[in-house]
Amino acid sequence: MGVPLLDLKAHHEPLQQEIMLVLEQVFKSQAFILGPDVSRLEERVAAYCHAQYGIGVTSGTDALLLALMALGISPGDEVITTPYSFFATAGVVVRLGAKPVFVDIDPTTYNMDPAKISQVVTTKTKAIIPVHLYGQCADMGPIMDVAKQHNLSIIEDAAQAIGSEYRDGRRTCGMGTIGCLSFFPSKNLGCLGDGGMAVTSDPELAERMRILRVHGSKPKYYHKLIGGNFRLDTIQAAVLNVKLSYLDGWTRRRQENAIRYGELFECSGLVHKERVRLPIPVYRQSGTRHYHIYNQFVLRVDRRDSLVAYLKQNEIGVEIYYPVPFHLQECFGYLGYREGDFPESERAAKETIALPIYPELTMEQQAEVVSVVKAFYG
Ligand SMILES: *Cc1c(COP(=O)(O)O)cnc(C)c1O
Repeated sequence: MGVPLLDLKAHHEPLQQEIMLVLEQVFKSQAFILGPDVSRLEERVAAYCHAQYGIGVTSGTDALLLALMALGISPGDEVITTPYSFFATAGVVVRLGAKPVFVDIDPTTYNMDPAKISQVVTTKTKAIIPVHLYGQCADMGPIMDVAKQHNLSIIEDAAQAIGSEYRDGRRTCGMGTIGCLSFFPSKNLGCLGDGGMAVTSDPELAERMRILRVHGSKPKYYHKLIGGNFRLDTIQAAVLNVKLSYLDGWTRRRQENAIRYGELFECSGLVHKERVRLPIPVYRQSGTRHYHIYNQFVLRVDRRDSLVAYLKQNEIGVEIYYPVPFHLQECFGYLGYREGDFPESERAAKETIALPIYPELTMEQQAEVVSVVKAFYG
């Protein structure tokens, strides 16, 4: 019995009728660009993030790009971020001619280590991009303190973390200057293609992003700014309006699956023998609720590459997020970083794997995954 990394068929099948209905409605209306479906989604997602405004865009990458454009990030500016994330986080900085400056991660959460930020702040620093990696909220308190001290903007990369909460109950996208979400199909809230959203509580930035989304024009054909086409498709917004109502339930199931993996790996003896190190979700102080929404369930393992090959052989879905940290990527060679500059990111890139954690994953499938890992270590 194989277990896929993600099972979109199982995810969408129960929603087929509801989704087909809204697709038909959009088709009947023949109104495919922006409109009430997009506005409604923007309001709902902003509220979900405990923020004021949402701007539906083409992808998570474009949400980040639009956020940086709205903040006026330009050549000569520096933006501090993590070297351990999906490429878009740093790619957008360079696309605007600015320089990404990296700080290493905390090895227990894989998120940016806030203690390292102030060491790299210069007079050119304009913003910080914390990433809530794998669905776990970054340590926003000290990040916001540094930002305040140096008058920096914060762009939260919450592509993997919609609804994830900080210790105090505040949600991702509701803490920084602008928060960015992705609706790529593998994210916790995914559409039927590409989509994303920028979220903010600043009315001026919201307006600026709305204008930049349509080539900087307001009114139409009168261009105040140089923007682009960053519009979220109406059809995707309609689907997301259906799916958003189910998001809390899916998150709960991901969290239950994570707890079950924890129990299964503990029982297997692999944790005790230190073959496998479980993710360390930081619990909210006031209760037992996670503030990790497990877009990915990532383990540190012994003999990583051999284990990956073995899992693939046994048809267990597995992925490495991410095998090469930004500072060692060929395209960022000109930044002058070297191997050894960010040891925790490099170690994470060599030691971690992601296992299936999607909401529809069954108990039997999880037991199968753990038993194959156990068989590998003998
Ligand atoms: C997926 C992702 C993005 C980009 O989102 P797209 O919708 O694929 O453009 C950016 N940052 C992180 C951390 C992501 O996981």
